Amino acid sequence: MDRINDFEPAWMDQYVMPNYGRFQIWPERGEGPYLWDTSGKKYLDFAGGVAVCPLGHAHPEVADAIAAQAHKLIHVSNWYCIKGQAQLARILVEEIVRIPGKCFFSNSGAEANEGMIKLARKYGVNKPLADGSPRYEIITFTGSFHGRTFGAMSATAQEKIHGGFGPIVPGFVYVPFNDAEALKKAITEKTVAILFEPMQGESGVNPVTPDFLRTVKASCEKHDLLMLLDEVQCGLGRTGETCGWRSIIPGDEIQPDAISWAKSIGSGFPLGSFWIKDRDLAENDARKLCDLLGPGTHGTTYGGSPLACAAGLATLNVILRDDLTARSATLGRQIAGEVASWKLPLISDIRAFGMMIGFELNEDLLMEKEDVKASGKIASIYVAKAMLDAGLLVVPAGPKVVRWLPPMNLTDAQAAEALGIFKATLENLAELA
Ligand SMILES: *Cc1c(COP(=O)(O)O)cnc(C)c1O
Repeated sequence: MDRINDFEPAWMDQYVMPNYGRFQIWPERGEGPYLWDTSGKKYLDFAGGVAVCPLGHAHPEVADAIAAQAHKLIHVSNWYCIKGQAQLARILVEEIVRIPGKCFFSNSGAEANEGMIKLARKYGVNKPLADGSPRYEIITFTGSFHGRTFGAMSATAQEKIHGGFGPIVPGFVYVPFNDAEALKKAITEKTVAILFEPMQGESGVNPVTPDFLRTVKASCEKHDLLMLLDEVQCGLGRTGETCGWRSIIPGDEIQPDAISWAKSIGSGFPLGSFWIKDRDLAENDARKLCDLLGPGTHGTTYGGSPLACAAGLATLNVILRDDLTARSATLGRQIAGEVASWKLPLISDIRAFGMMIGFELNEDLLMEKEDVKASGKIASIYVAKAMLDAGLLVVPAGPKVVRWLPPMNLTDAQAAEALGIFKATLENLAELA
């Protein structure tokens, strides 16, 4: 028995929990947007680890930075000052958000959101009701996804995410996304924050509307609520702006109080972060919002390790140096324009924000097909599987959307190659009886 090298595919089901519905491919090696499985089959990977690989796979600058740091120092704990955190936080504040603030480093998106939820609770204690009792209600929206930890799962307004795990964390109030009247009605004297994704990712690339974003801003000002943005999927340049919300309303008209990130930030090395705005708690209260989580209030053993920060620094350096944000915007528009020009009946809508593109499928048309019905699969998974078989990895999002989340440094030729596979596969599906 060779403990390290022996392997049997059956071990995956025998020893690993069944909580994921996995496609049966075994990725082995990647390079840029390409992925190879153990049988040698080559794929164009537009799933990108679900929006995690903005530079594609095995980017030499990221790989070298990780290797060099691993040989120097992997981990020390947050009892000490970590140079990479200072450097990475400065980049996030000065070059990504471009609004004064401070950052915390976590290991994942859910943990980054936990931090924002804790900030809201702390804010509610510091700015309580007239009788001194804390405000604690956080409004979140249908179709949202904030992660799988207890707080983040409870914030997620989807029964399929938190069903069966009750009682969930109290204090979350769910409101239909983009419904201004419903939002206004849901605000009570106990409300302390509004949390949302500028582009909902998991439920199918559904953007907040500019009107709704302005309603959120006005409500936050009127009722002294924190505006918390979950940019775990849409942040850091993917949508064609360094911040997702600026793809909806450019410039500084919208000024969130806190923003969470993960996914793209470390090219796949576990890293997350959240930023808090540098502002006074109130006109007559000079305490800073960004200092509210003081010593002992929040923490993590691994978050922001020297190794994670090295991965993050290398990733953001390439995104900013090569202006991949602009590249993302241009290529996203081209891709969406091209697919729209095919006028395929199987595609009923295209929602493109840079390299975050949702193709909504004509579910009714697809479900008329014998083969689709017989498969027992929902439309998005059926189509993702057909794409996979044809050599293009995409991600299902909700029942009828497939997402493209390609690397932001994709070339025109690589985009054309993917478009070729996408079109041929959809045409084949259209011809099914
Ligand atoms: C993926 C995702 C999360 C959860 O991130 P994890 O790293 O899986 O914990 C939270 N919010 C959004 C918008 C996401 O897309």
